[in-house]
Amino acid sequence: MSVRIVATDNVLFNDNKKKRPVMKKFYDYIIVGSGASGGALSYFLSRSGAKVLMLEAGKRYAADTFSSNEMHANSRLMWGGGTEMNTEADQIFLRGKVVGGGTIINQCLLDRFDDVAYNDWRTQSGVGFHDLSTMNRHYDEVESHLSLYTMQKQDWNGNAELYAKAFDNLGLEHSPLRRGQSNCNNDNDCIVCLGGCSRKSKQSTLETFIPKAEKEGLTLISEFEVAEVIHGESFVTVQGNHKGEATTYYGRKCIIASGAVGTTKLLLKSQLQKKLPALGKNFHCHPQWMTLAFFNDTVDSHKGFFQTLKSSDPRFRQWGFKLENVFAGPIALALLKQGYGGDHQQFMQRLRNMACIEVAVRDQDPGEISLNNAGKVVIKKPLSDGDRQRANHGNRLVNDMFNSLGAYEVMTSPMRIGLHLMGGCTIGQNAATSVVNEGFEVHGMKNIYIADSSTFPNAPGVNPMLTILALAHRASETILAEAGQRTTASRTTQKTASKEKTS
Ligand SMILES: Cc1cc2nc3c(=O)[nH]c(=O)nc-3n(C[C@H](O)[C@H](O)[C@H](O)COP(=O)(O)OP(=O)(O)OC[C@H]3O[C@@H](n4cnc5c(N)ncnc54)[C@H](O)[C@@H]3O)c2cc1C
Repeated sequence: MSVRIVATDNVLFNDNKKKRPVMKKFYDYIIVGSGASGGALSYFLSRSGAKVLMLEAGKRYAADTFSSNEMHANSRLMWGGGTEMNTEADQIFLRGKVVGGGTIINQCLLDRFDDVAYNDWRTQSGVGFHDLSTMNRHYDEVESHLSLYTMQKQDWNGNAELYAKAFDNLGLEHSPLRRGQSNCNNDNDCIVCLGGCSRKSKQSTLETFIPKAEKEGLTLISEFEVAEVIHGESFVTVQGNHKGEATTYYGRKCIIASGAVGTTKLLLKSQLQKKLPALGKNFHCHPQWMTLAFFNDTVDSHKGFFQTLKSSDPRFRQWGFKLENVFAGPIALALLKQGYGGDHQQFMQRLRNMACIEVAVRDQDPGEISLNNAGKVVIKKPLSDGDRQRANHGNRLVNDMFNSLGAYEVMTSPMRIGLHLMGGCTIGQNAATSVVNEGFEVHGMKNIYIADSSTFPNAPGVNPMLTILALAHRASETILAEAGQRTTASRTTQKTASKEKTS
């Protein structure tokens, strides 16, 4: 295939089958992935007036078509149907494959990082803006596009009541969680919203940044899996597969926003490992262990607001783990219990009497993402002694908490879960130990950018989504400034805003 640039807006190339030249769209920016990073970037870039194309491997669902069946949610909305594991098969990883990415299947708990997280990031990356006072401006901007709700005491369900009492018993501080949601009712059953929010309330990028970007002219193609990204001095070639058909797009710049595993996989598939020796390294996942406790009284942890409290006692930061006030759907719960038959049935029959607290470890020892000979992702994430000690400490504490409440049985599941997937394309100043530079450019490739969870230098120990959105905003400013484009709202947005003010 010969490529000839005929104008800044279009690429002319020979269609070998039809033996005649075909005009193909040439975009200012191509974004690969529509999750937290891609969704936010799509808006911030589109509102500058730039031509933006977003390619997403997953399907697009209208809110009222999300299934409340847990099995359908897992198989339709996650890579590998929610069954991806590490090489030892003792750690499961969940990642979204749908328009909205992880923000469709997550809880949308939105926290700013603290100084502890940024100081550790800065020490490792050497990146100056890894600093709370610098990042606050970006948090302010992204929060201005979201509806945020801080949980109230009247929102506590039975599981939260027990969590609060257990913390009081052991003299530990807890505080309310803040969530991105707009119109959840008091009587909501928001556990099903982990399979997509049918109320249009959860602040996924599908409900927030993506529709705004589309108003500004974004082109979004779903069910398009990008296979390779080829860097050129004046444009980038993006090749992939759309519903079985090989397709190629061209962009002045490409921003890869496919998540820690997806972005790393794409660069590995694009044969960039030799140029980028740190590619795939530094993978973290905040490994989590769920402990279930059984009470004679009904708890109904699956009803009402799903998560309302967090472990805010400063000692948790020193200990290197946090305790989540959480529960799970019946399929996930069934997987936590080893064994089968009558014993397993008796376990599930007590679902209404179960409470749950989860330990999420701030893992210090990284894993590694690579590809096998068949091009499939392989994730090495063994549990180091230090991380195991932190997990054991947390699980002992949770056992003490439930015992203090009079639970008649307490069970910690041996299976660990990874929901916050981070690293693989770490940001930093040194090309030998990182993949992207302080300006979010892939080292040595001025037309390819990354600002998603793959750039995290280490595990922050804090919910990552809000910071991924904030990093996307910072990256959009850098990218637009480099191209000499506006970084503020387009005329369309400004017109709408002034109409809203005057009406
Ligand atoms: C069950 C669960 C609960 C969570 N709860 C919270 C929470 O409460 N708060 C919080 O802060 N975080 C939470 N998280 C984590 C959070 O959702 C992620 O950290 C975040 O979504 C990552 O953002 P990202 O942009 O890096 O990647 P993602 O959001 O994963 O987006 C990547 C997108 O790229 C697409 N993609 C990948 N490869 C390709 C390709 N080759 N071609 C085209 N598209 C591709 C994927 O399909 C996906 O849509 C949770 C995660 C899970 C799984």
